[in-house]
Amino acid sequence: MDIKSCRTCGKMFQYRGSYQCPDCMRALDEKFVEVRNYILDNPSAAMADICEENDVDQDTVMRWIREGRLLMSGSAGGDLHFQCRNCGKKINGGTYCFDCSNKLKSQIDGTARDLQRSIDKLSQEKHGIHTQGLRRK
Ligand SMILES: [Zn+2]
Ligand SMILES: [Zn+2]
Repeated sequence: MDIKSCRTCGKMFQYRGSYQCPDCMRALDEKFVEVRNYILDNPSAAMADICEENDVDQDTVMRWIREGRLLMSGSAGGDLHFQCRNCGKKINGGTYCFDCSNKLKSQIDGTARDLQRSIDKLSQEKHGIHTQGLRRK
């Protein structure tokens, strides 16, 4: 059995691939939700604000971003440097650069359109009416 001391609170715990004890892991998960909601509410918040308002250190926030759990928008990502997962270009945050995310987005939009089209077709066949004019763009 591998026993380590928790990096956050120093308590000894059974090591399972994490540097934190289960209590701190749970607290961190709750913190993550808090920070994510904060960023959603304050999209232009700077990293310093995020850390201060949520009582969380920058390393932790950076790790969430790197893990792709947290997406930074606005100025918060300004002083951070990441690489686009698709083309390797330097980006300020998130997972993909502007070009790649646009490309991916249009792919997703295309898929959504196809899906919508088949749903429309299905409902037309089902009800025998045309929804052409009602369809949202
Ligand atoms: Zn702990
Ligand atoms: Zn890219």
